[in-house]
Parts: sequence; structure tokens; C-alpha cells
Amino acid sequence: MNDSMHTVAKHWYRLYWWISLVVTAVIAGGCLAFRFLPQVSVVHRLGTLGHLDSTTLVIAGLGLVYYLGAYWVLEKRSQETATLIGSMMLTLLLLNGLVSTDPGSGAWVYAGVWFVTAFFAPMFGLPFAIGVVLLSIIYVLLGSRFGFTHISPVSWALTPGSAIIAVGSIFFWRPRLLQTAETQVNHLSGMLRSNQEQSAIIIQSIADGVIVIATDGKVSLINLSAGLLTGWSIADATGVDVQLVVKLKQEKGVDIPKENNPFAYVLTHKKPVSQVVQIISQDESMRIISLVISPVLLSDGELAGAVAVMRDISEERAAEQQRAEFISTASHEMRTPVAAIEGYLALALNDKVSTVDSRARGFLEKAHSSTQHLGKLFQDLLTSAKAEDGRLSSHPVVVEMGAFLEQIAEDLRFTAQKKGLLGEFIVGRSQAIDATKNQDNTLKMVKPLYYVHADPERLREVITNLFDNAVKYTEQGKVSIGLTGNADVVQFYIRDSGPGIPKDDIPHLFQKFYRVDNSATRTIGGTGLGLFICRKIVELYQGRIWVESELGKGSTFFVNLPRLNSQRAAALQAAEASATPPTAAH
Ligand code: ADP
Repeated sequence: MNDSMHTVAKHWYRLYWWISLVVTAVIAGGCLAFRFLPQVSVVHRLGTLGHLDSTTLVIAGLGLVYYLGAYWVLEKRSQETATLIGSMMLTLLLLNGLVSTDPGSGAWVYAGVWFVTAFFAPMFGLPFAIGVVLLSIIYVLLGSRFGFTHISPVSWALTPGSAIIAVGSIFFWRPRLLQTAETQVNHLSGMLRSNQEQSAIIIQSIADGVIVIATDGKVSLINLSAGLLTGWSIADATGVDVQLVVKLKQEKGVDIPKENNPFAYVLTHKKPVSQVVQIISQDESMRIISLVISPVLLSDGELAGAVAVMRDISEERAAEQQRAEFISTASHEMRTPVAAIEGYLALALNDKVSTVDSRARGFLEKAHSSTQHLGKLFQDLLTSAKAEDGRLSSHPVVVEMGAFLEQIAEDLRFTAQKKGLLGEFIVGRSQAIDATKNQDNTLKMVKPLYYVHADPERLREVITNLFDNAVKYTEQGKVSIGLTGNADVVQFYIRDSGPGIPKDDIPHLFQKFYRVDNSATRTIGGTGLGLFICRKIVELYQGRIWVESELGKGSTFFVNLPRLNSQRAAALQAAEASATPPTAAH
């Protein structure tokens, strides 16, 4: 069955089958009766009128065999085809009747059934309706030419009659035509095609670069913007390995090892990746992009590919860089006069060099403390601007955290005591792990050595910041510093018995300028930069910083740093001793 074939409801085919069968059976029966009972006058009259000879019997017989046998076999595959063949057999039978009978007498019976055929013809489509009308024209033309018919009511009525019926019945059949499965499929695939075209237009017009990647890592779709970023034309890139098309480096220009390639990661782990990276175009030009790659998963979790979206953020990055440079230059320039003011105020308050009355001393002390605060603010601004663009200076050396914390403990304890708080230090002494027995069976305390590789000045900044915060936000109780660790990690923590931090604020605490909004922070001064700087410094040494806190009970800030084993520490210390002067890592 092809697309031009029409189809109607089953009962119409069945009706046509019945009509064809009955007409054919009557004609075949008439033929047989005329052959075997010619003496019966009615039979004789009908036989002569209908020209029921052996040709008619053969055609009608074939028709009956078809309707009662082949039709049923064919119908299983296509009912309309089976009915169409049946209709052709009936047409043949009627044509034979029309041609062989006298138009003035017998032909009117055949002409009557011919109109029925004309009525059903449009059911199979317009060509069949036209076919029936043409046959009736040919019948009249040929008939009058060869003399088997003359101008009679039948020949007058046949052509216009069948034409009117065929055209009229088109209007009857049209609303009854059903769409075949194939036409439905064609219709749907047409819609699908137009949907695909629409999506292609949408994807091409997106300003962000979009690449669709197949499971084998090859580019299956790439839009114009991605083409501009990569320097590949759409035609060239399609079907090529995405890692060849999209050449990436880390944001600072360092090569990305093959095993860490984000495309490979998404396709192997079926997990999304979002990062800021450099993209190197075919012409070696570089842009900074925010790259988000998401796996495309089917409902059963099977990987169907991945979609990468790339946004050019080079301009935003350049603007950020400019802002950071402005802040660091401005704070650097302002820090110098502020340091001078602070120095002169300290001199003014020093009894040995100047004399001021008690009222003036009060004012000067306030001015001194505000200037100190201002100096700290500029220092923090400068440090955070540097931390952001990776210009934080760092001279890492081997530091033994136990000794290091003990060394700064005195200053910290003094800070706590000034506020009436207890300063507690649990540094590097954990009896449970470290007590070993001597030969004389006495317990000897072995202090574990917690080596890290970091700049002591930066570490001091982190510890002082955390400790100052603990003291600043704690009204009473104690502030303790602890040190512990395992084979891989050195952990130090600063715990306080202060107000605690609300759960909702914890995820934002280490962001720039973030301050918890409560009455305490509103009265206690601060910039919201301290914890941000701590995080940046800790990350500089591949460490991690986080807080655990309970409202009303206190907070503990933890810092984990990678631990150096003694051999590695000794090797690095030896290298430090021979290296002059120390080199900056950043
Ligand atoms: P600030 O200059 O405001 O102290 P930080 O970045 O050091 O900036 O800290 C951010 C915020 O975290 C503070 O405003 C404060 O609300 C909260 N915070 C930090 N440390 C503590 C602490 N020990 N106890 C309670 N809240 C703290």
C-alpha cells in the first residue's frame, strides 16, 4: 500500500464486497439458468436481454471465485487492495454486459449497476473515479463508432450520469477517508523534521558555544559560537574527537593532564563538570571561558552523549583584574600614610617622648585604635585582592606545627586574657596515640612531629585571624587551639565557647565580605575579609578549612594541611639550607 492509497472504515469495503458478490452471483446464476433451463420463458427473456452467454459466465465465475476465495486471503494483507481488485472484476463484468447487450433493451440493468461502481470509485482515490468516467466515455464513443450501440437513453445517460455520481460521491467519501498508518508516519516524521530544523536554528543562534558530543567523544553538533571559540568550521568539526576541537588549558595557562580532561571525565563518570578554563583556538588565540559539560542520560541511566556550553568570560575577567589592581594599588597607597599616622599617634601616647593631658590622651587613644582598624582594613583589602588573582606572595618552608603553635601561643594567650577569656593550648600531645614504653617500663611522652610545607608568615596570618575572631565574638569562657593529625594530614583547630554561627550562614562564611547579620556583628567591627583570606591561604597549600558550629554553644574552625613525613621534611630542609635566597612560589 502506498501513500496515495486511501482507506475508509471497514464496513464500507464489506458493503461493496456484498454488492459485487450479489450482482456477480445473480449474473452467474442467470447464465447457468439460461444454459440449462432455456425453455422457462422468464429465464429465456432475461438471458437474452442480459446477453448471458458463456463469456459472461466465465467472467462472473472468475468474479465469484475471487470474492469467495482470493478476496479473503488478500484482505488479510490489505482490505482496500482486495476490494479494489473486486471492484475491477465487477467493472469488467459490467463493461462486458454493456458492450454485448442491446442498449435499447438489456443495457439499462448493467448501466444501473455501473452507477453503483461510479459511486464507490472515489473511495479508492480520484484516479479511480476519473477511470470509471473515462470508461463510460470510451464505451459510448467506441460503441457508436463500431455500431454495437446507437444513440439510446442508456448511452445518453451513462457518461454524464456516471460523471455526476463519481464527482458527487467524492464529497461523500472525502470526510470518510482515514489516514493510513503510512501517511500518519509521514506526517509525524514531517513534524519531527521541522522540530529538528527548529532546534538546529535555536542552537545555531545561541550566543554561547554549544557542542553536542556522542558517546565515543566525537562532535555530533557544534554551533556557530563554538566554532568561533575553537576556530573550527562546523563542517570540519563535526565527527572529529572533541578533545582535538576544544583545546583547553587551566585558567592560569597550565596544561591539563589528559586524564583530567573534563570531556573525558564527563563521558567516563557520567557526572557534570563546571569550570573556568582557557580555550586555545586553531589560530593559537586564547580566551577564558566558563565551561559546563553535562552528560545526557537516558531514562535507564545509559549514557547517550554530553552537551558542552562555553561562555566567553575574557572581558569580565579583564574587568575583575582591573578592579582588583585598583583595589590593591589604592589600599597599598593608603596604607603608607595610615601607618605614619598610627606611628605618630603611638609617639604622642608615649610618656617618654610627649606629654599630653588626660582628656587629650583619651581622644588620642580612640584615634589610635581607629587608625589601627583602618590599617588592618587596608592590609586585608590588599591581601584579598592579591589572593584573588593569585599574586599572594608565599615562601614555603618546612614547618613543624607543634613547635610553631607553641611559639605563637604566648601572644595569643595574652590576646584572650585581655578580654578575660581563658586561652587553652592542646598542642601536639595526645597520650593515647603517642605514649610508648621505655626499656625501664616507664611511660615516655613522644611528641609527634607534624610537618607541613607552607610559608610560616601566611600560617601565622590564618591562625591569628581565626583566634582573633574567636576572641572577638566570644563574651565569656575559653578559646582553645588544638593540633592533631594522621599519616597524611595535619589538623589544627581553634575552638571557642562563643555564640555559634547560624546553619544558613555557614556555606557563605568563607566568601569575600560575608558577615553574619546579627546584633553581635553589627556592634563588633569587621570587614568580612578575614575568613576569605584564610581560605585562600589554606588553598595555596592544598589544604582545607571549614567550621563546625552550634548556636549558643560555640564554634570550631578546622584547618587540614597535607602532612610531610620525616624523610621528606628532612630532604626539603636540606634543600632549603643549600638554597639561597628562598624563591617565591607565587
Ligand atoms: P569579620 O571581619 O566580620 O570578622 P570574617 O571573614 O573574619 O570577617 O568573618 C566573617 C563572619 O563570620 C563574621 O562577621 C562573623 O559573623 C562570623 N564569625 C567568624 N568567626 C566567628 C566565631 N568564632 N564565632 C562566631 N561567628 C564568627
